[in-house]
Amino acid sequence: MRMNYHVLTLFPEMIRQGLNTSIIGRAIAKGILSLEAVNIRDYAFNKHQKVDDYPYGGGAGMVMQAEPVYQAYKAVCDQTGKCPRVIYLTPQGRVFDQELARELAKEEELIFLCGHYEGIDERVLEEIVTDQVSIGDYVLTGGELPSMVMIDAISRMVPGVLSNQESGETESFSENLLEYPQYSRPEEWHGCKVPSVLLSGHHKNVDQWRREQSILRTAKHRPDLLKKAELTEKERRWLRE
Ligand code: SAM
Repeated sequence: MRMNYHVLTLFPEMIRQGLNTSIIGRAIAKGILSLEAVNIRDYAFNKHQKVDDYPYGGGAGMVMQAEPVYQAYKAVCDQTGKCPRVIYLTPQGRVFDQELARELAKEEELIFLCGHYEGIDERVLEEIVTDQVSIGDYVLTGGELPSMVMIDAISRMVPGVLSNQESGETESFSENLLEYPQYSRPEEWHGCKVPSVLLSGHHKNVDQWRREQSILRTAKHRPDLLKKAELTEKERRWLRE
């Protein structure tokens, strides 16, 4: 099954350039993912291709008008023969996390709607948006970077995108735990040695060491996650000691 992304944006080149390299670029080239950047400006209804206007009631900035956004959305629906889930990137939305990435990776088509300036006319948001998602509690100039962040994280969950499927399943957040520390060659660097258990070839001990490191890291950096993690009674006791 191929995952098809449609990004409605005023800056399509940002999306095309930003996602056409490395793992995501390769998955697009292989046809595991498809990425369409839809230029909202193509659906402007005036000869200057203007898609924003002053906000009613006054105030700073410009607002993206409803109709070009709606027509860009309709074009995707007509092309795919369905109306996919529409994710509006907004600092006012639910904060994006691995759980949502996992859920969205099960879809076949996804539309990302990128706002710019002061945002988008509320009426079209009410009509077409199914999910409002934020990538964190800060305000960016547009929804393009957040949509790329989401597409990257979602794509890693799409079968075939990562060469070793394992690595998508055991990393940070997979069980509400952060990943253990990683090491590569050389065995000693700047006087620091790789933990000896990793050189032992003893898989059971390696697994146990990694699990303990994950728990310790999560306790140190993200105690909020640890509350949701499934730890054994023995592990909880060990952590308290
Ligand atoms: N006036 C809006 C508000 O206060 O909620 C902010 C508009 S922001 C300058 C312009 C666009 O950037 C938004 O419409 C949204 O698409 C995007 N954006 C900004 N910060 C974001 C965030 N943290 N997560 C997701 N999208 C964001």
